[in-house]
Amino acid sequence: MANILVIEDEVNVSSFIKKGFEEEGHFADVAFDGAMGLSLACTKEYDVIVLDIVLPQMNGIEVCQRYRKEMGFEVPILMLTALSTTDDIVKGLETGADDYLVKPFKFKELLARINVLLRRKSIGYSSKKYLFADLSLDTDTKVVIRSGLKIELTSKEFRLLEFFMSNLGRVLSRTTILENVWDRNIDFNTNIVDVYVNYLRNKVDKGFDTKLIHTVIGMGYVMKEE
Ligand code: CA
Repeated sequence: MANILVIEDEVNVSSFIKKGFEEEGHFADVAFDGAMGLSLACTKEYDVIVLDIVLPQMNGIEVCQRYRKEMGFEVPILMLTALSTTDDIVKGLETGADDYLVKPFKFKELLARINVLLRRKSIGYSSKKYLFADLSLDTDTKVVIRSGLKIELTSKEFRLLEFFMSNLGRVLSRTTILENVWDRNIDFNTNIVDVYVNYLRNKVDKGFDTKLIHTVIGMGYVMKEE
């Protein structure tokens, strides 16, 4: 399960990519212009970025350049280009893109390339196992264990638990949780966070003496030991 940012102004292309990724169990945000894409890329944590070259506000080459050079981010970038000229591709790779794909393409092909980038990334980032109290979560195998008992979670519950475990002791507001675990475009008045925290508590905390997920009244939720 990966967090993917898609920077693509053509709505039919971006929604087709987003839908495809979501069907694979990934999370995808879409930015419709270069400036918005760059700002999202710099503020939220992504595992991989799909970046179109021809974009309003700021083109993909500039987005890539600024993201890499000025901000120093190393998240893998796959560039999309409708112009299959070598110039574009060379420029893209020179500015720090890791791979490229020429439009039109089949989603399967995009997915295969994204998986290569994700695998490459996960080799560099070894800490994929979270351990807290008697609870463990492994992002590679998707296995969650508490006190030696395997806990079955849905993909959303898993992502929520992963978010708690990567922010131990930190009070997380509903908005922060929504932005990181759900779609950025979700209606912020929803009570979906409370609903899912309850689901998670029923699986992770219920029946155990020590509760790990706590409500902070008026603020949000925190994972800690009492
Ligand atoms: Ca475009």
